Amino acid sequence: MNKIARLDLHHVWHPFTQMKDWQKREPVVIASGRGAVLKDTRGREYLDANASIWTNLHGHNHPKINAAIQRQLGKIAHSSALGLTNEPASLLAAELVQRAELKTKDQRPSTKHPLCNPRLEKVFFSDDGSTAMEVALKLAYEFARRSGRSPKPKFLSLAGAYHGDTVGAVSLGHIDLFHKAYGQLLFHSDQVMAPYCYRCPFNRARPERADAREYRQCGWECVGQVERRITRQRKRGNPYAALVFEPLLQGAAGMIPQPRGWLRQVAEIARADGMQLIADEVMTAFGRVGHESSDTLGGRTPPLFACHHEGVQPDFLAVAKGLTGGYLPMAATLTTPAVFNAFLGEYHEFKTFFHGHSFTGNQLGAAAALASLKIMQSPASIRARERIERTLRQLVPGLWSLPAVGDIRQAGLVVGVELVRDWRTRAPFELRERAGQRVCEEMARRGVLTRPIGNVVVLMPPFCATDDQLGKMVEVLGMSIRKVLPMV
Ligand code: PMP
Repeated sequence: MNKIARLDLHHVWHPFTQMKDWQKREPVVIASGRGAVLKDTRGREYLDANASIWTNLHGHNHPKINAAIQRQLGKIAHSSALGLTNEPASLLAAELVQRAELKTKDQRPSTKHPLCNPRLEKVFFSDDGSTAMEVALKLAYEFARRSGRSPKPKFLSLAGAYHGDTVGAVSLGHIDLFHKAYGQLLFHSDQVMAPYCYRCPFNRARPERADAREYRQCGWECVGQVERRITRQRKRGNPYAALVFEPLLQGAAGMIPQPRGWLRQVAEIARADGMQLIADEVMTAFGRVGHESSDTLGGRTPPLFACHHEGVQPDFLAVAKGLTGGYLPMAATLTTPAVFNAFLGEYHEFKTFFHGHSFTGNQLGAAAALASLKIMQSPASIRARERIERTLRQLVPGLWSLPAVGDIRQAGLVVGVELVRDWRTRAPFELRERAGQRVCEEMARRGVLTRPIGNVVVLMPPFCATDDQLGKMVEVLGMSIRKVLPMV
């Protein structure tokens, strides 16, 4: 066995991994990567079909991001943001603020937007998605207290939500498998139904061989549920501090895309109640969920953030994963002057936000992020994203011929394929059958790497993937489903 694999098996404890299963076989040891391809120590090549757990944007070993990091490395790798500042972090904050402005069709900042348009002017840096959400949560909590909205702020988040693994972020999450064990450790947050059209109890349509959002028969009961929840809480005399959501696509819940218009409607309801909006764009930001085609953009740069597709501007915007192009752990929580001002005061008043991390505002991460954002805006990258979205839209319907495929849902450049025992009844595989995992193991043997979410297989290619590579990802997924789930 490879020496590195042996060391790993002896000493490394992997995230979200049953280590008993892990120890049964020699792990793949990644040695290098280029573009959408990862190479292991035996020289085998794999397509990185989930962009290294939803982080990588422009491909591995990108010359421009490499150069930006190397340039910065020649100056300094890291100095503290406690009491000091630095060039790349300040430039990055300004760039994020500029890109987070909600624009109207003519590229002007929208000042009188029906969903309010708070200016996200302040940026708090941290290290990963969980910490970015933890920051949003603590700021929103304290803001609700200081602004007099609530002495005991409560949060509303979506069923199936996942916002990270720190204790605050876990408290906002509602995936029992991950979160139940820690119940005693958490604070309580309320959950409300998420728009999961394929398995929605209000969807009266029988299953078809199409994305459930397209043929659903319902009366937007999911929106009504949000409204009722918010009204009930208000009547109790303690209105919610904030609504927490992933815009357009709930990731770890099972790649569940929201039907068009859902976000806008619930944002309006929450705003009318005076709630703040916390958008977790850890996965959805930076073009992942697609954008209008360049034909309708009319020269505008496409929005970076999923919220803006529905004209929604949150009070907190959390980004991580793709912020550095997927190169380095860095995150940011953007917020408004109103929130920022609530923490201003004389030193002895101790209104300070007492929160921060050693690597806050790290120079290497910020340099990578600046380079990544520049690539995002290039016409070549915009065209590539459009092509990938289009190509996936042409390729994935081929999977409907497989009876084990219950739902195929695409949101921009992300595809979730839900595997089921019987597509006519939507009867699921039991989790212990490991249907998704077995399909992904077979895909790995055929040179395509991705990770399932339960019975949902995810394709989320980097933006540099060629049409041939996309073709291989979809073909291998189909072949693997056929091989692993032949009985259905
Ligand atoms: N929010 C969302 C929507 C996520 O998908 C994730 C990670 N999958 C997180 C938060 C947590 O991010 P991290 O793993 O970087 O802490």
